[in-house]
Amino acid sequence: MSEELHLLASRRLRAAGMRYSKSRKAIVEVLAMAGRPLTLDEVLAFEADNDLAQSSVYRNATELVEAGVVKRLASGNDHNRFELDDSIIGHHHHFVCLICGNIEDFEVPEYFEKEILEIEADLAKKGFLVEGHTLDLQGRCHKCS
Ligand SMILES: [Zn+2]
Ligand SMILES: [Zn+2]
Repeated sequence: MSEELHLLASRRLRAAGMRYSKSRKAIVEVLAMAGRPLTLDEVLAFEADNDLAQSSVYRNATELVEAGVVKRLASGNDHNRFELDDSIIGHHHHFVCLICGNIEDFEVPEYFEKEILEIEADLAKKGFLVEGHTLDLQGRCHKCS
């Protein structure tokens, strides 16, 4: 796992007055490895041989969210999926499976993002403060189609 990622995560936690504990590091590591948003059950499954306790995973994930290292997803029906923050893994979008709830990351071409920025600029002129955007594509994943 990239040292840079852990350095970034530990800095953010320190700035928030938190320690980069073994459990928090394990969660960051699993999310980086997966490369897609995970439920906490999935985080635990990935870390089966680690000593991550179920009770502490939820608490630590929430604290990682507070520190800006991890993001709780707004995509999909269940909001209990977590991924590394966009500021760490980069801006991207989500494919949401309507059957099993699985979520995969994807990126759109640069021109597409530029168009959205122009829309944001237009809205700003009308007095709206845009803080970002999400784009979810919905359908069936390869397991469910
Ligand atoms: Zn599916
Ligand atoms: Zn994502």
